[in-house]
Amino acid sequence: MLPRLAAVLLIVLISLPVSVFAADDEIIVYSARKEHLIKPLFDLYTKKTGVKINYITGKAGVLLERLKAEGKNTPADMLITVDAGNLWHAANEGVLQAIHSELLEATVPAKLRDPDGRWFGLSVRARTIVYNTEKVDPATLKNYEGLAGDEWRGKLILRTSKKVYNQSLVASLISEKGAEKTASIVRGWVANLAADPFGNDTKALLAVAEGIGQVTVVNTYYYGRLMKKRPELPLAIFWPKEEDGGVHMNISGAGITKFANNKDGAVKLLEWLASEEAQGQFAALNMEYPVNSSVSPDPIVAAWGTFSGSPMNVAGYGSLQAEAIILMDKAGYK
Ligand code: FE
Repeated sequence: MLPRLAAVLLIVLISLPVSVFAADDEIIVYSARKEHLIKPLFDLYTKKTGVKINYITGKAGVLLERLKAEGKNTPADMLITVDAGNLWHAANEGVLQAIHSELLEATVPAKLRDPDGRWFGLSVRARTIVYNTEKVDPATLKNYEGLAGDEWRGKLILRTSKKVYNQSLVASLISEKGAEKTASIVRGWVANLAADPFGNDTKALLAVAEGIGQVTVVNTYYYGRLMKKRPELPLAIFWPKEEDGGVHMNISGAGITKFANNKDGAVKLLEWLASEEAQGQFAALNMEYPVNSSVSPDPIVAAWGTFSGSPMNVAGYGSLQAEAIILMDKAGYK
């Protein structure tokens, strides 16, 4: 009888949520934001509050699948990920819960969070135009649509359409201009390519710096990282003006998991991450922009100038992403 009892006990034990064994106030985070970008903040929070934070990092898709597979047994209290499209998918798959926090609603602008409170932006990333300063007069630049014009034939460099950043960019164009107009823009981009699409933003920037092409579209923190290492490169940022549609904005952000064991603790951490105390560092660690308007960007980032973001709620990207992928595929954007 004894071995059988032991087996039953073992089954009970392994099916219990991990947090049963965790300290009461411990918070468990799944993060698609890289460790070096979150650890300093978690360390600061623990030092300040005594609350321990356990985390794992991984790719957004893998963490989402894990949350879905774990269901109500998940040890995770919070999901941190990048790109509004990924946050939208997580909410859509039912792994996040709606929370109501006056603090978060006051600090995170409405267009940078889920209207239903299932996720909140914590930093803003701008996806904008970068050009070769030796070859391009910035007065000839206008916006994303402008890069489809004949004058850019053989001069455009793009990152692959497989990356969620470009899927969100095209989703925002569909929302702004409609599918037909967006399809003609994307066909124009493809016709203007100087080379096959590149695997990441840094390679796209280098191709522009080396003169393979003259202009590209990247998240500004990749520009910041590259220029820190190689300030001599002939690259500069161009911000599409407000009247020309503004700059495509995206976010990194977080939500509370649907089956969080420590919901209260996780909400407090989320509120702190959006607070003045944490925001400067949260954004600066990756050369992004704070979502909290009472916090200034890092001086290096501030030196790139100010811009007007597109007015669209980033929550709209997710629902249009599938359409954006099909549209890019049909237009031959690899
Ligand atoms: Fe990135």
